[in-house]
Amino acid sequence: MSNTADLAERLAEIRARIARAAERAGRKADAVHLIAISKTHGADAIAAAIAAGQLLFGENRVQEAEGKFPRLKLAHPALRLHLVGPLQTNKAANAVALFDAIQSLDRPKLATVLAKEMEKQGRRPDLFIQVNTGAEPQKAGVLPGDCEALLKLARDELKLPVVGLMCIPPVDQPPAPHFALLADLARRFNLPQLSMGMSGDFEEAIQAGATFVRVGTAIFGER
Ligand SMILES: *Cc1c(COP(=O)(O)O)cnc(C)c1O
Repeated sequence: MSNTADLAERLAEIRARIARAAERAGRKADAVHLIAISKTHGADAIAAAIAAGQLLFGENRVQEAEGKFPRLKLAHPALRLHLVGPLQTNKAANAVALFDAIQSLDRPKLATVLAKEMEKQGRRPDLFIQVNTGAEPQKAGVLPGDCEALLKLARDELKLPVVGLMCIPPVDQPPAPHFALLADLARRFNLPQLSMGMSGDFEEAIQAGATFVRVGTAIFGER
């Protein structure tokens, strides 16, 4: 595991690359938010990132996040945490209680359960609809053609705070067409936020309009 100085240096490098990519795209650097994906890494690595000024994090499992973040959130009230992994309905209550955004809304049943939980808890984390842009059978996310119906249910009927779309392109394909597809859908549905781009392709995602990039390995090292 790396020490604090290494991590701060890698974070600074990623931030500089985000700023340059935004500039190349004719966008403002502060229009792109860096989510540090801390899954599998311990609270000490997260604390090092916080010390380097990083306050936005992402985890892909509810239970793992519950083991690390409640204390960090108490100590750092400005810390924000996004869920970027699939969400089972039986974990929806825990997710609503802990996360500030849930990026994996991908089916009607989950929208209904989240609406009920938000009502009950009086907490309203931002939601992103995850789109399976590559129509991969093993991957979470709503198919592009089903996105509009899910949005109608979640945003218009259930009045959920849907702010944007999220995708994870197939690993064996160039990501740019998937980013473009997601950006097209977001524009069509008038959704301001686009969560796309990881360690290997966040600059291309910024070119295509990403407002949130999700970077793990390039900050924390190999998992
Ligand atoms: C792990 C993960 C990331 C980060 O991936 P890296 O390649 O390590 O940057 C981004 N998004 C999701 C949904 C993830 O699960």
